[in-house]
Amino acid sequence: MAPRQHTSLDQRLGALQLVRVAVVMLVLASAAGVPRQLGLSLGQVLPLSLAYLASCLLGQVVDTLRSRSAQGATGRRGPSASFRQMLLPVDSFYLAALTLPSGGAQSDFVWLFTVELIAVTLLASPRTGVRLAMCDTVLLLAITALRLGAPLGQLLGTASVYTPSPGEVVVRTAGFWAVALCTAYFSALSERDLRRSKGQLDALSQMAAEMEEAMEGGSGAEGIEAVLLRSVLAPFGLARAAVIWERKARVTAARAWAQAPTADATAGPPGTHWQDGGPDVTDTSAAPPATPGVVSAVEDVRVGLDALECPVAKRALRDNQAVLVRALSAVTDRALDDLLPDATNVVVVPLRAGLERQGLLLAESGPPVRRRVSRRSLDMLMRFGAHAALALSNADLRKEVDKLAASDSLTGLPNRRALMTDLSREIARSARSGQPLSLAVIDVDHFKRVNDTFGHLAGDEVLREVAAAMAANVRDVDVVARYGGEEFAIVLPNCAGEGALTVVERVRAAVAAAHTVTAVTVSAGIATASGPGLDGERLLGAADAALYASKNAGRDRATLAPPVAVRAPAALKA
Ligand code: GH3
Ligand code: MG
Ligand code: MG
Repeated sequence: MAPRQHTSLDQRLGALQLVRVAVVMLVLASAAGVPRQLGLSLGQVLPLSLAYLASCLLGQVVDTLRSRSAQGATGRRGPSASFRQMLLPVDSFYLAALTLPSGGAQSDFVWLFTVELIAVTLLASPRTGVRLAMCDTVLLLAITALRLGAPLGQLLGTASVYTPSPGEVVVRTAGFWAVALCTAYFSALSERDLRRSKGQLDALSQMAAEMEEAMEGGSGAEGIEAVLLRSVLAPFGLARAAVIWERKARVTAARAWAQAPTADATAGPPGTHWQDGGPDVTDTSAAPPATPGVVSAVEDVRVGLDALECPVAKRALRDNQAVLVRALSAVTDRALDDLLPDATNVVVVPLRAGLERQGLLLAESGPPVRRRVSRRSLDMLMRFGAHAALALSNADLRKEVDKLAASDSLTGLPNRRALMTDLSREIARSARSGQPLSLAVIDVDHFKRVNDTFGHLAGDEVLREVAAAMAANVRDVDVVARYGGEEFAIVLPNCAGEGALTVVERVRAAVAAAHTVTAVTVSAGIATASGPGLDGERLLGAADAALYASKNAGRDRATLAPPVAVRAPAALKA
């Protein structure tokens, strides 16, 4: 949805109509109250004012009709207000027609030109204000240069028209333009500030939505970082921005982004190692894959922000306030300077979610050195930072919850649900690569006796030790999971029967040697398959059958199931 403007041009030009009505009322009241002083009576002013009001009303009606018909045709508001803008010369004529018979340059109504100019500049736009000033100047200079004052005055019913000297005309015109230009300049300044604030607020709400999406997609800290840095770069007009993430008093990532990806961004950002006390070794070979926009990164950080001895960072974190640094020192702010080399006007924003410290956001405004960075910008950057820190904290919590949901609380191993997910993933991989996949199902022998003899708590301890022995004796790529009760499973990717048997025998020996309350043994069944058409349930069924063969053969052994036949692809069956 397009963001709504605070006050539309329509509404502001509507307010201008009110100013016009107010001016007419003032003129009529003055002519009725002090006609002699003004040199104009109510009778002279009334027809002129009514004609002026009628043209204003006509402008309003025509514009509304045009706008409605455009809306009907396109479903959107049409290019309204254009006709009402054409009323500006009418304003000038009305005021000229009032001033001429009431004394010309010395008329009591002359200041109404200035009132109207200020109203138009503030309510329409600075550019429209300048256009009106031009219109008024041309009109008044034409009247003066062509000596039209006297004849027009006579036409309008008065002969007392004062014709100013050329010097007076220059001074008056210069004064009028000084007011016009100052009003236009100040109005443009505040309009620019308003537009910037609005842009930043829009960016904040857009960022909130994008962060929610990033969290839904489970993209974690990197996704949140990308959204945060993209969201602050353009709306704050930043040259570069960087994030240093800190978790549990350790910096986990530090990356800087620039407005547009640099030509060598695809080659990966330069990496720098931070050792205790600050950055130490520069190493570009270990750079991670480039993210568009990343211009530098600090790798392999082994310390927390406190250990980096950076006073600016410390101050921002201690006071929980954004700090502006005109230029980063290569000595005292070495850690930050390494990330944003030669940066000027850097706002250091603490990232906190409640009491939890999440790191720092660095926003570089760039040269000139004494560039104005408003308090409002600092406050807005704090808001962006707070939002990102909260999003990161939520993403961490979510990760923690996901981890808990996938792990077995007694042994810490992946639970049955996680096992099935891992198995499906490995089956898909094996189907793609054609590599064999083995699955071992392992059951503790006579475990009921352990419980009956030593109690359930001791039984639990035995299960924990069995689990640890298993996990310590498989390959890195293998997944050991608690299948249920005293049964475990091992997924063995890229491993055919004999190889799987070797791993399982190693596991069995480790369990037998474990320091449990009483010696325990395990029985195992192993099934292997490969290629497309592989199915998890059939693999599990075959491993289970082999396990029962081990049990029936006297326990404390592993049995290899006959190769599991994979299903023929549908096309071949026909
Ligand atoms: P087998 O050699 O035939 O496998 O005999 P077994 O006694 O191991 O098998 P059975 O299925 O008869 O008994 C399994 C026991 O494992 C029964 C159950 O109380 C126990 N058990 C299952 N889960 C847990 C657990 O989390 N903690 C403890 N302490 N015992 C458990
Ligand atoms: Mg069992
Ligand atoms: Mg058992």
